[in-house]
Amino acid sequence: MDGSRVAKELLAACQGRVKRIQDQTGVTPCLATVLVGEDPASVVYTRMKRRRCEKIGMKSLKVELPESTDTAGLVAEIEKLGADPDVHGILLQHPAPVDDERAAFEAIPVEKDVDGVTWGSFARMYFPEEAAARGGFGSCTPAGIMRLLDAYDVPLEGAEAVVIGRSAILGRPLAGMLLARNATVTICHSRTRDLPEVVRRADVVVAAVGRPNFVRGDWLKPGAVVMDAGYNEGNIGDCEFESCEPVARLITPVPGGVGPMTIAVLIEQTVEACELQLGI
Ligand code: NAP
Repeated sequence: MDGSRVAKELLAACQGRVKRIQDQTGVTPCLATVLVGEDPASVVYTRMKRRRCEKIGMKSLKVELPESTDTAGLVAEIEKLGADPDVHGILLQHPAPVDDERAAFEAIPVEKDVDGVTWGSFARMYFPEEAAARGGFGSCTPAGIMRLLDAYDVPLEGAEAVVIGRSAILGRPLAGMLLARNATVTICHSRTRDLPEVVRRADVVVAAVGRPNFVRGDWLKPGAVVMDAGYNEGNIGDCEFESCEPVARLITPVPGGVGPMTIAVLIEQTVEACELQLGI
């Protein structure tokens, strides 16, 4: 599955929407990125996100805070952005080195939570009908995986889906999204017994473990669809591509599979947030 191609298509569509918003209202959608400290990977990630915004004609606002920032200081900065009508989406780069990261996430108004990290967004991912009116967005990597599954017309209704990993940013939200699409979802984690046997049931396998080459081809049901969310040192995924690829019907490579979808969804959700805030 070519995530780079699908992401490019998504971004091209966003560019058109940005132009329409500008033509209709004179407003340019703006994503604020908040970075606390100077963790090198986080510096790179936030820069990539800002550049992608600018490339399609959006604005980005860089907020960089010193490592010494405490929870109250971070919350105050985020509240300022929340009240700023020129900012449509807020991304707090995590992990943020404060005592209470959750308090900082919750300071993001749900209508600007384009990274899908607030309780309000989590509710929406698990209860889409009930929570839709309250706003919120999908977590970007899981939402990107869903977009990729749809781009390749992978049937989800009644499908056996096995998600390996239960983190707040990946496994758990993804499981909610798959459930909302009527898949039969199994969530696996480090305490799961006989993981290969569970994976063997799956029509759709999602690996979000953070261990290089963890899932192997002999774990898979022939014809399974394999989504590898893993990104380990040296551009290595969580699935062993050489052994999985001959067994799978579809598989995402690393790099070029799930990765590019994450930023594309972040951008798309910021454009959508802007449209909703402007009432268009
Ligand atoms: P995480 O918070 O470390 O969670 C890993 C999950 O894997 C945990 O739920 C853990 O179980 C489970 N696990 C660990 N060892 C296991 C084992 N032996 N058997 C079964 N399950 C096991 O990681 P994450 O943040 O979700 O990230 C997962 C991967 O996705 C990483 O490679 C990361 O780099 C990548 N990622 C990619 C993107 C992207 O944009 N493409 C974005 C985010 C993350 P317990 O809960 O029991 O500990």
